[in-house]
Amino acid sequence: MTAVYIHIPFCKQKCKYCDFNSYAGLNSLYGTYVDALVGEITSQAPLLHVKDVESIYVGGGTPTLLGQPYIGRVLSAVREHFSVVDDAEVSIEANPETVTGGKLALLREVGVNRLSIGFQSLDDDLLGLLGRKHSAKQAIGAFRAARDAGFENISIDLIFGIPGQSLANWAITLEQAVSLEPEHISCYGLTIEPGTPLEREIAAGKLQVPDEDLQADMFIYTMESLGESGFEHYEISNYAKPGRRCRHNLVYWEDGDYIGFGAGAHSKIGNKRFCNITKPGDYIKTAGTDARISEVTELSADDIVSEAIFLGLRTMDGIKMDDFQARFGRPLYNIYGPQIDKLLEEGLLEQTDSSLRLSQKGILLGNEVFSRFI
Ligand code: SF4
Repeated sequence: MTAVYIHIPFCKQKCKYCDFNSYAGLNSLYGTYVDALVGEITSQAPLLHVKDVESIYVGGGTPTLLGQPYIGRVLSAVREHFSVVDDAEVSIEANPETVTGGKLALLREVGVNRLSIGFQSLDDDLLGLLGRKHSAKQAIGAFRAARDAGFENISIDLIFGIPGQSLANWAITLEQAVSLEPEHISCYGLTIEPGTPLEREIAAGKLQVPDEDLQADMFIYTMESLGESGFEHYEISNYAKPGRRCRHNLVYWEDGDYIGFGAGAHSKIGNKRFCNITKPGDYIKTAGTDARISEVTELSADDIVSEAIFLGLRTMDGIKMDDFQARFGRPLYNIYGPQIDKLLEEGLLEQTDSSLRLSQKGILLGNEVFSRFI
């Protein structure tokens, strides 16, 4: 499986919690950035020898700030220079305030078949606290407009653990999101990133994050409530209706190859990883050349094993023992027996006949579990 990722690093304004590679106020670069993307795709594709591309994901930033002509150009370049399978998943991330029915219909016309809408919350006060530029009403309106435009595969992104958020408030947001009948929901616990305005407000005592117990209660509530609503919990933060798992993310979690184009985009081909320079202006100047690459890493044999464990445990199916042995030539237990025994004893992992996976307690303490395999 191979996936192509396209990074659009532009946003209307920075959200207060965001440390992604995204920038506000660079509208004047949209055209030259898209030229650079097309240049990178055109020059690199012949060198990569990639077979079938099953997924194209346009993420950001806020890709829907760019209209269909720009997105259409980039998608055409991918289709022209790679062998994209007929039923490929073609996703784009959208922010509610940047889409209209007309814009969404045009995106459908250029082959986008999956939309991931950043709701984050359906409480206007919390949206304001996060620095989001849309209201709950706009988020719901964007979802309905997407359905009207013919999108049959829509994901909603939500955040829990926001300062001031109660379990009841989270439950209402979740219930309202479910009532829209999306095919997929991603629920992330809020991470307070260093250097963000939100971190400064918390450090100054103006805001308080929910304590660990409340955050755990929100996570457990999410798993139970979405399970009861017919969603499969298939990765720590991701829930899908049957048959609607995000194919793009499965490529990452199942250790497939991915090629990233754009500023700060990451790629992994076999054991090699590389990353483009992050600043859009620098990327534009170097996109067609090797100078665009800021970092290349060759994974060691140990790195590859650790990564397979880390990625496998993120999925609720866990690590398939037979697959692991077939890939690495020895049973997982021979490499990490003591660690596995300890984690089983602590109730953080559970073992089935064929797989090893996180327990519910382990899902809540995922980073602790992963750290034992480094
Ligand atoms: S829209 Fe997304 S990428 Fe842009 S600033 Fe907000 S969180 Fe960051």
